Amino acid sequence: MSEPDTQISYLAAALKAPRVREAAIRLAHQARDSGWTHEDYLIAVLDREVAARNASGAQLRIRAAGFPARKTLEEFVFDHQPGIRRDDLTPLAAGHYLTEARNIVLLGPPGTGKTHLAIALGIAACHTGQRVMFATATDWVARLQDAYQRGRLPAELTKLRRYPLIIIDEVGYLPFEQDAANLFFQLVSSRYEHASLILTSNLPFARWGEVFGDQTVAAAMIDRIVHHADVHTLKGGSYRLKHLTDDTLPSVRLTDQTN
Ligand code: ADP
Ligand code: MG
Repeated sequence: MSEPDTQISYLAAALKAPRVREAAIRLAHQARDSGWTHEDYLIAVLDREVAARNASGAQLRIRAAGFPARKTLEEFVFDHQPGIRRDDLTPLAAGHYLTEARNIVLLGPPGTGKTHLAIALGIAACHTGQRVMFATATDWVARLQDAYQRGRLPAELTKLRRYPLIIIDEVGYLPFEQDAANLFFQLVSSRYEHASLILTSNLPFARWGEVFGDQTVAAAMIDRIVHHADVHTLKGGSYRLKHLTDDTLPSVRLTDQTN
């Protein structure tokens, strides 16, 4: 290794920027051959480091978010989902709604792609540098109950507010006891106009009273959620069952025969 290369290696290690070392040495030849200015060269070297850091940061954030699967907007077949247009959804990937603390609500029957879209938007947010946390409504409540029992609920809510996006999947699959409903309400309130939520539910808002055991609590919660929100209602049959023929799914054939 030449003297300058050794020095670059030492300095890059001191900066904890290993890609600077690799890029500086590799791009030096190209810079000389192509007559780059000093500024062009410096920009090219630093750009490699920044791009690599952003990419590995995104992967760390995606791993930390707790997504149950990896899903992307590119994989979503909008032609199979009449309830939502590609043009309405894809701009959300840029994450402007997060800076405005707006919410996204995805409603619709099982299998229509609510969780898929929630994950895809969450992953997109990770790529824009935002921290995300994903869990089902039941898991969020369990987490808050645990914090409450340890006398740490306010601290937990404050900590969660540092996440620009939390995703609450499957509101409504299980009804909540009153204590759980109150904790959920506190979570929604603490984020109102501070940080975003993505919520999914198989129930329309009109039936959230059944989930929270109280129409007033449900109405107050919906009020805060939808005040600054995009609400999308997905439609149609389950995508899970779409590819299955009668032969692979006897229960469907049974249902068809009884109809
Ligand atoms: P929901 O949360 O509404 O019950 P999911 O998002 O879990 O539904 O979707 C069920 C399965 O079908 C998932 O594997 C998902 O990736 C897939 N899926 C649903 N809708 C679509 C779609 N329009 N395009 C591609 N895959 C889809
Ligand atoms: Mg789901």
